[in-house]
Amino acid sequence: MGKKRKIKVYSEKCKGCGLCVQVCPAGVLEISGEINRKGMPVVKVRDIEKCTGCGLCFIMCPDCALEIVEEE
Ligand code: SF4
Ligand code: SF4
Repeated sequence: MGKKRKIKVYSEKCKGCGLCVQVCPAGVLEISGEINRKGMPVVKVRDIEKCTGCGLCFIMCPDCALEIVEEE
């Protein structure tokens, strides 16, 4: 069986625009209320188990703050 592909968030690159939250068909992501070192609100993974690794959020993010990675 192949490894599952899941989303990973690089919080320091995120500016909390919410595009990825809107585009995710599985409701995986949410704006967390946390602030990164640049003072920007950041997105976080609400439920990684729901992520299909479809990559829509990765394509949508204007700041390259998301990556699709293989699960350990
Ligand atoms: S890879 Fe697909 S399912 Fe996973 S968080 Fe991104 S848009 Fe949602
Ligand atoms: S689209 Fe990118 S910059 Fe915008 S909230 Fe999502 S991860 Fe952050």
